[in-house]
This record gives sequence, structure tokens and C-alpha cells, in this order.
Amino acid sequence: MNGKPYLISAMTRDGSARILCADTKEITQTAISIHSLSRTAAAALGRTLTAASIMGYMLQDDHSSITLQFRGDGPIGTIVCVSDARGNVRGYCENPAVELPANEAGKIDVGGAVGRGLLYVIRDLGLETPYIGQSPIVSGEIAEDITEYFAKSEQTPTVCALGVRVNRDGSCKSSGGFILQLLPFADEAIIPKLEENLKAIESVSALLAEGLKPEEIIAKVYAGIEYDLFDPAEISYRCNCSRERYYNAIKSLSKDDFEKLREKNEPIEACCQFCGKKYVFKLDEFLE
Ligand SMILES: [Zn+2]
Repeated sequence: MNGKPYLISAMTRDGSARILCADTKEITQTAISIHSLSRTAAAALGRTLTAASIMGYMLQDDHSSITLQFRGDGPIGTIVCVSDARGNVRGYCENPAVELPANEAGKIDVGGAVGRGLLYVIRDLGLETPYIGQSPIVSGEIAEDITEYFAKSEQTPTVCALGVRVNRDGSCKSSGGFILQLLPFADEAIIPKLEENLKAIESVSALLAEGLKPEEIIAKVYAGIEYDLFDPAEISYRCNCSRERYYNAIKSLSKDDFEKLREKNEPIEACCQFCGKKYVFKLDEFLE
């Protein structure tokens, strides 16, 4: 899959654990280009896009989508990422220019940029009301917060690891990560083995920066454990906005809002937060 972003999953042969691992370098690079992200924002949004893509893919139902919303009190503001059930993802953050000095570990300070608050996970399964889960943002580093969400809100033992490296010129050097879950009725004997393997890995960020592919990272997590790899799936940064969608959104504005627009008597401009596309409408289009 030369260079294209993709996701691959693997199940231990005894059905105790599954892992989904993604290479999202090109997705994060697209986000950097669309939103002119600072290095800090690139790391924060890149990690969230990666988690959303993997969690979207986990839905396994084409009519479903998932939204991750980090509502922290840090300077980056709210982060929103949406994925379809094939791992195609889009996202934005409120303050894409925020830049913080490196943290004590010399790393990009994503935790400081996000701050504390709540993580909302909204699953739209095509039913009348979406399912909304929430958990506290424990570190703002994204991966730990996702791990916490699965433990608290879904009672599923999960390890999430995400890593984004940004070049000096602001472009994406590497981006990706994995979500590892114990399945119901897992053989508990597998836990110490997985823990030992995870300890040996140390940082998924470093592995990705060294150029390891998702299947090579999976091989490290499952070292000494029998497993089956599933077919890889191509994923991308994809927005599903359309002129029609914005037209309908504007049409549903209140009478008061329309009156204000009429007083201004200017074309109505809508800009997609996810992909930056601009849609311009004439007032006449709504006069009926
Ligand atoms: Zn769009």
C-alpha cells in the first residue's frame, strides 16, 4: 500500500484480543495543509484523527459514523473528528495556530494544549438518536483519554497508543497508532504476555518514525502469541460536505436570522470547518 494511509486489524487465534493499527501520515498531512496547523495542533489533531479513524472502522456498519469531541479548557479549544465506518476521517480544532513550548519530556505538549474537561464520543448508528458516551479528559494527551473512555464508559479493557511526529518545516513526519482490546471471555493468561510486549514497545511514535508499518507494530504487540491478520483497508481524509447540505442548513435558519441576512443584503457565505470549502448562496435562492 505504498505510502497511502491504511489500517489493518488482527485477532489472536484464541479470540482473546484484537488490535487495529493505522498509518495516518497522509491524513495528518492533509489536515495540516487544510487548517495551516501549528506543530502542536498537528500533533493533537493528528492523534485524534487517528483514534477516530480506528474507532470508526470498529463500527463495522456502513450507515454509522463516530464523532470524537475533546472539550478541554486548554488553548487549542475544542477538537472535533468524525469518521465513517470505513475509517475515512475529517476533523478540526478551534485554534489551529496554538503553539506551546515542549513539555518536560521534550515532547510536543499536546496535554497542555488540550487541558482538562470532557471527551464526548458520539456514535450515530443511523437510528433516531445517536448514542453519546463521555468520560473525563485525564491527561489531554489523547491516547490516555481514549483508553480511559473505553474503561469507564464501555467497560472494555483497552490500550490506545498514538503518535505523531512533525518535521521542523511543519510537515508530518509520521502519524499513526493502535487500539488493542481484550474481548469478552478472553483467556486471562494472555494479559501478562501482552503487558510485557507493550512495555518493550515503549513508544509507538518512535516505531512509526523509524518507518515501521502497522503490521510490523502488530507483530511486536503480539510477539509470542498466535494471531491472524485481516486484509488492510485504505483510509483517507474525507469530507462529505455538499452545496445541498449547506443549502438545507441555511434554509432551516429562524425567521429572525433570515431578516438579519435580508437587511445586510449580501450573498450568504458558508465555509466548511472540516475541509475549508466555501459555498456562496444568493438570498434569492431562499425567497419562497
Ligand atoms: Zn467539507
